[in-house]
Amino acid sequence: MSFIVRKCVRCSVTAQLDAQSIAWNRDGTNSEIFFVCTACKQSSIYPGQPHGRLSDLSGNLDDTGRWYGSEPIVAIPEMPKLSDDIPERARAIFHQAALCRKLALHDAAGAMFRKTIDVATKLIYSTDLRLAGKQPATAPRSRVEGLKNLKIIDEDI
Ligand SMILES: [Zn+2]
Repeated sequence: MSFIVRKCVRCSVTAQLDAQSIAWNRDGTNSEIFFVCTACKQSSIYPGQPHGRLSDLSGNLDDTGRWYGSEPIVAIPEMPKLSDDIPERARAIFHQAALCRKLALHDAAGAMFRKTIDVATKLIYSTDLRLAGKQPATAPRSRVEGLKNLKIIDEDI
């Protein structure tokens, strides 16, 4: 088994990442190597220039004199498409929340989804003519409940 030692991008522990498989680039020198963290058992991909087949290598790949990236290859996930009817401010916050969720930043995603609800419900209160003269509740949960009771938003929200 060959490995590298890096700060795992999945669990933030500096751990041994065991090499599982390799995808060679067309140049025959550079590759992308699929690793599994021994601390959290989750995967990540790093660039590298191993000499030979992965099955023929063993030990710490960084000790072989060949180059292996210090940073993983990170793919930025595609953002969900939202209706143009949604105001830009609410769309931007929701996109941040969705990005955090796709990057497994769950606490950050939760905070941004909460902010999305906060901003979106305030926008509804400020623009919906049925709510003219009504004051929105301070707490987002109460505001959502009020919008539900007034049948402005669906009950299942
Ligand atoms: Zn890990």
